[in-house]
Amino acid sequence: RAKQRGRDTYHFFDPDQDRLLQVRHEQRQRFIDALNRDELRLYFQPQVDMRSGQVIGVEALIRWQHPEQGLLAPGQFLSTIDTTSLEIDLGEWVLTQALNQLTQWQAQGISITISVNISPTHLLISDFSQRLGELLKRYSHVPPKMLKLEVLESAAMHDITAALKNIACCQSLGVGFAIDDFGTGFSSLTHLRQLPVDLIKIDRSFVRDMLTDPNDMAIVESVIYMANRFDRAMLAEGVETLDHAKALMKLGCFLAQGFGIARPMPAEAIPAWLIQWPNQTDWQALTRLS
Ligand code: C2E
Ligand code: MG
Ligand code: MG
Ligand code: MG
Repeated sequence: RAKQRGRDTYHFFDPDQDRLLQVRHEQRQRFIDALNRDELRLYFQPQVDMRSGQVIGVEALIRWQHPEQGLLAPGQFLSTIDTTSLEIDLGEWVLTQALNQLTQWQAQGISITISVNISPTHLLISDFSQRLGELLKRYSHVPPKMLKLEVLESAAMHDITAALKNIACCQSLGVGFAIDDFGTGFSSLTHLRQLPVDLIKIDRSFVRDMLTDPNDMAIVESVIYMANRFDRAMLAEGVETLDHAKALMKLGCFLAQGFGIARPMPAEAIPAWLIQWPNQTDWQALTRLS
């Protein structure tokens, strides 16, 4: 329409901008189709206690099984989900899938918690906890404590009052909360004091280089120190090697998740992984160090 009226009317008309909006619209539409056509999958990455080797849970990580492009990671498509309603649709899809999976594992005698990543926009809708409560009622055979939510520090920062209210309501339902990518926000320390979260996840960017970069080591040390002072459980993300694991344990961080332990995998692969994990002798030897 703007095009037809011509450049004289709209001096600020920018064809590149127009094209960009169109592309975004198409991407968004394609994602809605993916939701409806059942092309999304949850992968699961184990989280363990390095002291005992015990598996404490799995994190649900979304994938898009794209018919032409293959398996896509969230970094390749999450940015197209830029409307509140789509974020809610996706978030509720993930929560429902997680509860279905918990149901299935429960029937197989497998008892592990699932952590679900909740987008900031989704967490901040006013009836978030009410809708979660209704969903949990539909899955009354699943104890709410089997579900955990991971929220980015920035989510809480955006509207601390709303975030605190929703987090408290969810916790009263029995659902656990973790702060994800801790250390990447701007006011981590203040939030740690205010937020009643059960778990702090140290961002993997700090863990990755902690053995070679003294600055990253300093950040990891400080986060572990603070988490201990505030009496909060903490988990290190991105634990890729035994050396990382040993260093973290020495600093007092015992919960871990990372490619060195297990990569994210389809739900069907979890039972076999649970059986072979105790046989990973390198990792099991860590339990003797603690
Ligand atoms: P996150 O929640 O911090 O998830 C951890 C990411 O680190 C995952 O990437 C995981 O595959 C990756 N990772 C774990 N261990 C290692 C390691 O040892 N080395 C390396 N290099 N990477 C490791 P993924 O699956 O690509 O997810 C990226 C982000 O996308 C997640 O970061 C989360 O913020 C977001 N995300 C994933 N699933 C969902 C979802 O269902 N909903 C929403 N809203 N966001 C999601
Ligand atoms: Mg996460
Ligand atoms: Mg993270
Ligand atoms: Mg992350």
